[in-house]
Amino acid sequence: VKNIGILCSGGDSPGMNCAIRAVVRTAISRGIQVTGIKRGYAGLLRGEFMQMNLSSVGNIIQRGGTILQTSRSPEFQKVEFRKKAVDILRAQHIDGLIIIGGDGSFNGAMALWKEHQFPVVGIPGTIDNDISNTEYTIGFNTAVQTAIEAVDRIRDTAHSHARTFLVEVMGRNSSAIALKVGVCTGAENILLPHDKVNHQKLVDDINRGIARGKESSIIIVAEGPVAGRSYDIQHVLKDMYHLDAHVAILGHIQRGGSPVADDRFIASQMGNMAVEALLGGNVPSVTVVQKGKVLMTDLANCTTKADHNYIEYSGLAETLSI
Ligand code: ADP
Repeated sequence: VKNIGILCSGGDSPGMNCAIRAVVRTAISRGIQVTGIKRGYAGLLRGEFMQMNLSSVGNIIQRGGTILQTSRSPEFQKVEFRKKAVDILRAQHIDGLIIIGGDGSFNGAMALWKEHQFPVVGIPGTIDNDISNTEYTIGFNTAVQTAIEAVDRIRDTAHSHARTFLVEVMGRNSSAIALKVGVCTGAENILLPHDKVNHQKLVDDINRGIARGKESSIIIVAEGPVAGRSYDIQHVLKDMYHLDAHVAILGHIQRGGSPVADDRFIASQMGNMAVEALLGGNVPSVTVVQKGKVLMTDLANCTTKADHNYIEYSGLAETLSI
């Protein structure tokens, strides 16, 4: 491998820049060229390339988002466009590709390998922490930290006015953000993505809290497949139980911002390891965290979503919020 292409795909997450920096600096230190591909697979199909050098990744380690930008590309789902992508890569003399993204992006990478034996290495980047066979995805802890700070602020108001708040966090079908934020903010309740909401229990819990002197209740709502379900819950609480709850949907503020230490540290290791894997012919592969260590595994292990074992924290949250 003499020229590595790198792109980000799917949703952005804080720490992607740390991974890009680590890839570029590792490759250059090994005498390998790096070509940045802008806007994910869509940019690849349009030939949006930028030559990376040591200074093109200077002063980005602390920046959220991704300097390469990212996208979703429906075209790339089709076999003929993936053929075109490989033709473009080869014409550009790119002979290995690093993909920073989620399980969807890894499926695209896997297809490049299966259909064209194009060498690919994945780096998991998504705030959702929802990829199989890795305990961690870059951006998760930053998103959690951002949500915790927001909930702490909401708690001030909730307490001052003795109110109930439904705070909706991101994560789509993954419970990871909701559970970690719930435990870390002392939430009175956590509603997971696929929970059928038991409004009666919710109201009973809130009233039990009030009876024992609580001045506020925070209910963390995982967004689930469609953001905004908090409003439905709010309406039922009002109409059927005459309970007023306020809604705060944290939304995209959770996606941006300066990456916390874990994201920088893990992304730096993953970027470095991804280059070594490409150079060592260890493809198709992906950098993962297993038992707390950053290591490589087969890409095929990481092409599905997973909801890990976060569910075990559900009981912890409930016990600590009585
Ligand atoms: P994420 O990578 O965060 O899971 P998406 O699921 O949106 O995000 O996938 C990002 C992009 O990866 C898609 O827009 C598409 O271009 C590509 N992709 C996703 N799934 C596949 C697939 N099965 N085959 C080929 N490409 C795919």
